[in-house]
Amino acid sequence: MRIFSTQNRPMHLGPYPLERLRRGSLPDLALVPHAAPVGFDRPDDPASLVNAMREPQAMLDVLRNGTANPARSDIPADPAERTNHLKSFAYFCDADMAGVARIPGAAWLDRPVENSGIPRLIDRLRTEQTKTLAAGIDQIMAELRESVETPPAPITHHTHALVLLYAWPRDPRADEPGSDWIMDAQAQRACLRAAETATVLANYIRVLGWDARAHSGAASDVCLNRLAVAAGLADADLAAPWLGHRYGLAVVTTDMDLAADRPLAPMRGQPWYWMQGPGWQFGTGHTAKTGRTADPYAKRDFAAGPHPFETLKRVDSPTTYIDEPNVARVPKRTDMFARAQFGDMGDKMQKGAGGGLYVRRQAPSLAQRRALGAFVLLQDGAPGPTPAQSDPARNAANLKAASYFLGLDAVGLSRCPDWAWYSHDALGDPIDPPHDQAISMIVDQGYETMEGASGDDWISVAQSMRAYLRFSILGTVIAQQIRNLGFSAKSHSVMDGEVLQPPLLLLSGLGEVSRIGEVILNPFLGPRLKSGAVTTDMPITHDKPIDFGLQRFCEACNKCARECPSGAITAGPKLMFNGYEIWKSDSQRCATYRITTEGGSMCGRCMKTCPWNLEGLFAEAPFRWAAMNLPGTAPLLAKLDDAVGNGGLNDTKKWWWDIELQPDGSYGAPAAPVNRRDLQRGLDLRYEDQTLAVYPAPLAPWPWPYPFPMDREAGIKAYQAMIGADAYRAKSARGET
Ligand code: SF4
Repeated sequence: MRIFSTQNRPMHLGPYPLERLRRGSLPDLALVPHAAPVGFDRPDDPASLVNAMREPQAMLDVLRNGTANPARSDIPADPAERTNHLKSFAYFCDADMAGVARIPGAAWLDRPVENSGIPRLIDRLRTEQTKTLAAGIDQIMAELRESVETPPAPITHHTHALVLLYAWPRDPRADEPGSDWIMDAQAQRACLRAAETATVLANYIRVLGWDARAHSGAASDVCLNRLAVAAGLADADLAAPWLGHRYGLAVVTTDMDLAADRPLAPMRGQPWYWMQGPGWQFGTGHTAKTGRTADPYAKRDFAAGPHPFETLKRVDSPTTYIDEPNVARVPKRTDMFARAQFGDMGDKMQKGAGGGLYVRRQAPSLAQRRALGAFVLLQDGAPGPTPAQSDPARNAANLKAASYFLGLDAVGLSRCPDWAWYSHDALGDPIDPPHDQAISMIVDQGYETMEGASGDDWISVAQSMRAYLRFSILGTVIAQQIRNLGFSAKSHSVMDGEVLQPPLLLLSGLGEVSRIGEVILNPFLGPRLKSGAVTTDMPITHDKPIDFGLQRFCEACNKCARECPSGAITAGPKLMFNGYEIWKSDSQRCATYRITTEGGSMCGRCMKTCPWNLEGLFAEAPFRWAAMNLPGTAPLLAKLDDAVGNGGLNDTKKWWWDIELQPDGSYGAPAAPVNRRDLQRGLDLRYEDQTLAVYPAPLAPWPWPYPFPMDREAGIKAYQAMIGADAYRAKSARGET
């Protein structure tokens, strides 16, 4: 755990104390060797995870090109502000270091590096159909097809390069559990992760109306090494501060005018205090990375993950009741965003959801959505040759180690019962569950950006999309890895998923039901997460559900309900809904606010204000310990959290621009005042004053993608008819349910 908070450190400075280093002059770049292309073929080692990264990397390399928005956006003209903004966005996407250079002549390659996996993917893009209800997917596919049909334009007019550096974690040990697939894969892992961010940022710059292209270790027009030196991320010997040569690179080139960084002075002349001394070891510069915490796997096995899940109490059943035999399966069409799209909730909602307008209204999320849509094509596929016998415990360790090695924040394994599947798919066809095993995965939405946000301002939707995209890419790799080994597997993303994730998260021990409703709260990340799942028929051992005292805590805390701008979260008790005991929120109200709010785009205010949304500091340890081990202290802890102002606004961390989609397709000043709300400590929310609605299975729409008007009056009556778990069990015993 870190000692010093990052709360006063502006986002563009990044997680390492780069600003403390000495700068020098540009060395002779002709003497800096070109980066060797990163290859993704391991035919002699079919179990290597590198093989499963091949298509996802090729997809990102397909997406590196695109057409700039003809309508330029109204953004700050100051090159330094632009550089800070783009670096902040890169750090939001978890880059370890970011620097900007004016592109020197020596950085252009005579022959571009080309990803050999691209032609096969282009064939897939031309022909494959998607089967998803995701709004705007047709448009994404049409744009992609058009862009692969058009030869990339020359980019010699690009003047600046944003260089992204991704650190390697420690090398896996051959004798650690779960290392079978991840040996000798560091370069490919860093290449893939860096390419994700470069692809999004290049698209972002194009969305704003400037030309830009992403360059990865597998497909590039420029020398990544020389640009890293020019941008001040590595010295002339290609050593990066704190990392040496253990890193991967990606670059975004653009014709947008940016302020360049100065090259680094040689490593041997850098200040000891910040390079090796207390400044680095203890993070006295208030950095997110310190010598003691930079690599969470330095003293942990990859299969154990970055958080101490082994310290949690495991239980046989989730801490909330699930009436498994009577869980009602519902069609995918019940999803509120699908209902909005098809007009079930009126014209305004249909317009807001149509073509994914709630995502397009904000430039960063539109930039993320292109890749998110494209990865739908890779989520499923045919398995390889029939596997030999395999060991469930070894598979489990390998799956966890591979997922954590790639960069997921929490992973849990469970059965995937039939009741966790939707009843009908996106087109209304019945689903016959093909898999009975699930790998649930969590991506942290990022503490620092959440700290700067109100939860429902102009970064909210990009916070969700960033996490969804991370899962989409890494879940795709894991599903492909399983298929490469001869088992069937499908990744279920926000764009195309056939399982309900909350019950799988509960079964796999990744969290407990929280007052927020369908949000499963994790003890180390709080509710600040997005999840995804890979289902499979690969035999795996399972994790058990966890009990960290959250039920008592949420009973004593009402903060998310009080802070919810739409009043969708119940201030009352847990009730039975479709066979689950949960604090059932009014998801119609929640979706309506998220889709139609005018002062921002979408909402995650419940995640922002929850006392479990913590930074991960040493000083927070007593709170976490007491919350988990002394359930009686929950009311006091909840009050204390409120009293110290946790969940309020921190303008130091606000790095994004408040710009909204304009009628001409550019982005400019929003029409409505921005949602920069602070805590509402004076509000006394009472359950008896709330009028909530729910739509249980008997009120679900039909499974087909056509309008099915929502009846709110019936929904309100359904809420009032819900009963608690004890009463439900008693009724069941009498045979009345
Ligand atoms: Fe539970 Fe309070 Fe967090 Fe809501 S804000 S999920 S009630 S701990």
